[in-house]
Amino acid sequence: MNPNKTKYVFVTGGVTSSLGKGIISASVAKLLQARGFSVTIQKLDPYINIDPGTLNPYEHGECYVTDDGAETDLDLGHYERFLNVPTSKANNVTTGKIYQSVIEKERKGEFLGKTVQVIPHITDEIKNRIKLLGNEGKFDFVITEIGGTVGDIESLPYIEAVRQLKWEMENNCVVIHLTLLPFLKTTGELKTKPTQHSVKMLLESGVQPDILVCRTEYPISKDIRKKLALFCNVAQEAVIEAMDARSIYEVPLLMEKEGLDVVLLKKLHIHEFSDLNLDRWKNFLHHLYHPERSVKIGLIGKYVELKDSYKSISEAFIHAGVANRCKVELEWIHSEFLTEENIQEKLSGLKGILVAPGFGNRGIEGKILAIRYARENKIPFLGICLGMQCAVIEFARNVIGLKDAHSREMNPATSSPVIDLLESQKNIHHMGGTMRLGGYDCELDENSMAFNVYGKKRIRERHRHRYEFNNEYRKVFSEHGMHLSGINPEVDLVEIIEIPSHPFFIGVQFHPEYRSTVENPHPLFIRFVKAAMDHRSGL
Ligand code: GLN
Repeated sequence: MNPNKTKYVFVTGGVTSSLGKGIISASVAKLLQARGFSVTIQKLDPYINIDPGTLNPYEHGECYVTDDGAETDLDLGHYERFLNVPTSKANNVTTGKIYQSVIEKERKGEFLGKTVQVIPHITDEIKNRIKLLGNEGKFDFVITEIGGTVGDIESLPYIEAVRQLKWEMENNCVVIHLTLLPFLKTTGELKTKPTQHSVKMLLESGVQPDILVCRTEYPISKDIRKKLALFCNVAQEAVIEAMDARSIYEVPLLMEKEGLDVVLLKKLHIHEFSDLNLDRWKNFLHHLYHPERSVKIGLIGKYVELKDSYKSISEAFIHAGVANRCKVELEWIHSEFLTEENIQEKLSGLKGILVAPGFGNRGIEGKILAIRYARENKIPFLGICLGMQCAVIEFARNVIGLKDAHSREMNPATSSPVIDLLESQKNIHHMGGTMRLGGYDCELDENSMAFNVYGKKRIRERHRHRYEFNNEYRKVFSEHGMHLSGINPEVDLVEIIEIPSHPFFIGVQFHPEYRSTVENPHPLFIRFVKAAMDHRSGL
């Protein structure tokens, strides 16, 4: 494909944050994909961190990991789940990354004595990062979501880059502005003023939005559409209503009803496109809204107050639930408050227990208690990353009898470091981007539950951790009935553990949740939900 043909769609946000720019971007992308176009989505984050890898989940929710090992914003997870196409390092850019590369170039003398400035050097770097994906020639559309809200000081260089690109590319560019129409109870009206103001703010930066997507609790009347069109210089058909949806997966269909994709294609002077093919998507949604039964699964973690911290896991349960025609009711359980005294009361009634990934000591003993409960009561268990490491510690303490067993992350002085740092990690002092990150191969023992689940010998899953199962303990674990069923063939590390005498007890060092999509639910989650559905209390 001719790279000049690539079209660029920018999604900006106004009025307030948290309006769901990520979901709108993913929905636009889905509609274009369903019309036969190849699409990718990129997120530009205006913060100064190089990536969200060093951020506490309470700040921005989960850190999503791509196959090529980038630690990225959780919106990339939405992009993959909607499009079923992997993203990469190039799909998430932060202000930190932009400045880092400009400063590196300056140190190399690449600016030939010039004064390095926000305009043009920072904006040029932003533009290059935007065009990078288009230059690959693989995509008909590059959709770029600009993080933050119009008017934020830190978003200014991004908006300026959009202004320049819009001018340079003319017909190849469309700006969608997402805003909120608040409903005033006292007068019973939807108000357009905040939207007018935020469009004015965009105009002050020289950017005229082409399409307005308005979040609203109530339908937008014709009069309101007219008014918005008039005050914001957009066509009336380009005022798109975005009503609150029951599920994020319904948003592409709501946008389709409003004609968002058609308006967008028209703006870009694209007149030839196929009919929408959303059969699989609609089928998924039908089963999501009409489950045949439900099952209660506990998610044990230490960030449960902020559900975005476990976004990919909760979405993977939605996908796997639909695959089983079952609604997974997640019970969010704080590991910090689990004790020997309350464990029975807190976990009774659960048909499955998932212990979540995490870092640091807080809540660790609660996780270990929950695993013991799952193991002894034969409740289906899935441990992810730290959850797998806790299952190893629990087994060492309570089955093998290594009472002091621990991970060196939590107790560097433990006499039984069943989870330990690799030699190669010991001299690393920089925190950012230095974990074992991204996709790695894993070889499964054919005589295992894992092989049965995946149905193949060689799998590839994404990682994000520093610590590992300590190979010195392999023999003693096997002798006591823990099967080390998945091994990294290159570095000989244990990636999967299971207990064959238990109906379903699996721990994985990697993150299967990052690979679950609507059209490709993850087999481990599907089987875990199935095991939970089959679980009978008291067995
Ligand atoms: N804290 C553990 C490690 O670094 C597990 C990380 C995780 O759960 N993602 O190895």
